[in-house]
Amino acid sequence: MGECIFCKIIKGEAPAMKIYEDEYTMAFMDIAKDVDGHLLVIPKKHFTNILDCNDEYLINLMRTVKRISNHLVDDCGYEGVNLLNASDESAGQSVFHFHIHVIPRKLGDNIKAWPNFGGAETPTEDIFKRISML
Ligand code: 5GP
Ligand code: ZN
Repeated sequence: MGECIFCKIIKGEAPAMKIYEDEYTMAFMDIAKDVDGHLLVIPKKHFTNILDCNDEYLINLMRTVKRISNHLVDDCGYEGVNLLNASDESAGQSVFHFHIHVIPRKLGDNIKAWPNFGGAETPTEDIFKRISML
C-alpha cells in the first residue's frame, strides 16, 4: 500500500490548494468538487482518526477549525459552517488520516449537509443505559 495521501500533502510531495498552515495543522480544498468551498483541516502528524489522535494535536486541530470558521464568516461572506468527520470505516471514513470537513454555509444555499438518518430503531433509554459514562 502506498503512503498516506495527506502525509504526502504535508511533505509537499502531493499538490494541494492550501489555505492555512501552522506548526500543528494544515487546511486545504477538498478535491471532490461536491459542494462549494469544501475544506479539509488535518493534523500535520499522522493519526488515523479521532480515536487515536493525541490531545496536543486534537486541541490544535480544533483551534484551527475555529480560526478558519471565523475567517469564512468574518472575511469571506459566509454566515456559518458545517463541521463533519468520519472516524473509522464503519462511519464512512475513506482517507485514514484524521481530518475535519468544513463546509461554509449561507442561509438559503440549499446545501444538504445534515444527513437524513431515517429514524431510530432502539429506544433512546436503552442506548442511554449502555453508553452513559456517569
Ligand atoms: P472521508 O470520506 O475520509 O471523510 O473524506 C476524505 C475526503 O478526502 C474526501 O472528501 C475526498 O474528496 C478527499 N480527498 C481524497 N483524496 C484527496 C486528495 O488527494 N487531495 C485532496 N485535497 N482531497 C482528497
Ligand atoms: Zn497520513
